[in-house]
Amino acid sequence: MIDLNTDIQYLKGVGPKRASLLKKLNINKIGDILFHYPRRYIDRTKIKDIRSLCIGETATVMGMVCGLEIKSTSKGKVFVLSLSDGSGFLSCTWFDPRYKGNFKMGDTVVVNGKVGFFRGKQMIHPEYETVSGEETELLQSGRIVPVYSLTEKLTQRELRKAAKFTLDNCLKFVNDHLPLYILQKRGLAPLKEAISNIHFPESKESIELAHRRLVYDEFFNLQLLLAKRRELLKKDEGISFNVDGELHKKFLQILDFEFTNAQKRVTDEIRRDMALSKPMNRLLQGDVGSGKTVVAAYASLIAVGNGYQVAVMAPTEILAEQHYSVLKTILGNVDVKISMLIGSLKAKEKKSIYEIVQNGEVNLVVGTHALIEEDVKFKNLGFVVVDEQHRFGVMQRVRLKRKGHSPDFLVMTATPIPRTLALTVYGDLDVSVLDELPPGRGKTVTKLTQESKRKKVYEFIREKIEEGNQAFIVYPLVEESEKIDLKAAKDMHERLKNSVFPEFKVGLIHGRMKGEDKDEIMRKFRDREYNILVSTTVIEVGVDIPNATIMLIEHAERYGLAQLHQLRGRIGRGAKRSYCILIASGRITDDAKERLKTIEATTDGFKISERDLRLRGPGEFFGERQHGLPELRLADIFADQRILSAAREDAFRLVREDPKFLRPEHKSLKENFYKREKKRIELFGAG
Ligand code: ADP
Ligand code: MG
Repeated sequence: MIDLNTDIQYLKGVGPKRASLLKKLNINKIGDILFHYPRRYIDRTKIKDIRSLCIGETATVMGMVCGLEIKSTSKGKVFVLSLSDGSGFLSCTWFDPRYKGNFKMGDTVVVNGKVGFFRGKQMIHPEYETVSGEETELLQSGRIVPVYSLTEKLTQRELRKAAKFTLDNCLKFVNDHLPLYILQKRGLAPLKEAISNIHFPESKESIELAHRRLVYDEFFNLQLLLAKRRELLKKDEGISFNVDGELHKKFLQILDFEFTNAQKRVTDEIRRDMALSKPMNRLLQGDVGSGKTVVAAYASLIAVGNGYQVAVMAPTEILAEQHYSVLKTILGNVDVKISMLIGSLKAKEKKSIYEIVQNGEVNLVVGTHALIEEDVKFKNLGFVVVDEQHRFGVMQRVRLKRKGHSPDFLVMTATPIPRTLALTVYGDLDVSVLDELPPGRGKTVTKLTQESKRKKVYEFIREKIEEGNQAFIVYPLVEESEKIDLKAAKDMHERLKNSVFPEFKVGLIHGRMKGEDKDEIMRKFRDREYNILVSTTVIEVGVDIPNATIMLIEHAERYGLAQLHQLRGRIGRGAKRSYCILIASGRITDDAKERLKTIEATTDGFKISERDLRLRGPGEFFGERQHGLPELRLADIFADQRILSAAREDAFRLVREDPKFLRPEHKSLKENFYKREKKRIELFGAG
């Protein structure tokens, strides 16, 4: 007897050898086959007679091999395959004679390609697949046939057979975990039907129905986890802060600006959360320069004023250092002790920080991952801020929080996240948005240009500096070739200083400098002792110089979208119009072109991050490694947004109304959920 949990090697026709190949595809148990969905389909209804092919169209043909020839041409040897389907002949040409080995006389082959003409109808380098036995019948019977992703030595035929056999014998063991009322409400296909149809669909419509159901399931499962987790977080006993203390009020008084309306709204939301005895779990979204750091500082002071410690975690040392110096400056006039903990500190320095963190001498500690190390113990951690969360995983966020007793928690993202992504990755958090920039900011104009215009660009910069503006000239420092790039930046600085802009003061700042030296140079630039600052990307965050209205970014093609957006955020901070000039040199990929066009076209952080996500693919955001969330196989957070919203609504309602899944209609869901998500539930506590 076999069932869904039987090892795959016991499936008819598999055995240990094929099983080891299937395991490479993550098919370990028989049931896994059902969820190894086809990559695409061959639609028999689309298979054409050779006779009816038109020159220029792209078409699919099935025929028998009736000729295998190697021909010599002026360009070398080519392989020509002749196919016949009874209605005519088609020749398929590959400019590589080794292709001959893939075919035998009498094979049945399906090819797809553009129809051309050379002594008869032909295709050049078509996609091809050899089919045989039952499959030929399947194809001939007018069915839609699945095409799976494979690993070496496995064939489509073997996978199709395994899938067919599993469907015939084991589909009956599949339990539909979704309650009937959801199926009805959303018009979803039953699970058995969907699985059957995703593999061997009757029609295009049945693929769509199956697809919709299975996409819904992926989102629903994810949202169920998030909903459970959120439910759990709500139950935790947290800290009820007194939000009417003096410290944060004093901070507001000494700030030399008023909060924007968005900042007022967001700080109200945070204050309300902090006053409650359940822990805050809030995401703060806001574009570069929208004033998140100030908001975080304000909230931190509420915690410090209540006698608690605060941890601020950033993903890189540079970011941590910058937060540290910004916070030190803006909190300079209130009585708060700040330290920094990063991996590159000497063991002795670390130890002394561990000490003062543990004995409570420090109120606020800024750091990197170094903060979540075993040795770091807080006296009374009450508030946690994590910046750039999407570079951290759920696990890291949980580990930092565990260093306190249910501390309040604020995640900040410098690059706004598209709503759909926020719903999936941060679905367990409340969201606050800073959708307003501080007043009096001028527009930033962005222009993409080339090496050949360099002279003109320099002239433009000269003009602007003569009008009293300051400029950043940014050189990329790529980790892999840091030394070479650093030299390039230094050389460029010399050249700019001595030959291009001899009449101006040109400073240089780079990541390899000591912290104090960097501070000194930034201070000089701020005080207008330099007209131009040549820099590597160390100015990415935290620097605020309203008079700097020009930015020239060299090798702009090397940067990611988010990084370009961050960099550009350093200008446009004063009332005057700012200019960002991008010079792209060297080889530019299509992706790079796309990035540069996007950054030229818009300054809207939401649009940019959405584009970024599309370009890089959600994989980066959804890796289990990164987020501890289940992988999405079929679902696409852009194309399937509507289904995502529906699944989220249903999952959250279900958990609200029946948090322990005790109702009879949730019995199957309960069994399924706890079995499948056991590990994850233990890991990040969604149980
Ligand atoms: P973010 O962290 O969102 O990039 P910051 O908190 O660093 O933004 O703020 C960017 C700059 O704007 C800082 O110099 C900050 O002092 C200033 N700023 C923040 N809020 C306001 C405001 N309401 N009015 C004027 N300037 C502000
Ligand atoms: Mg900031």
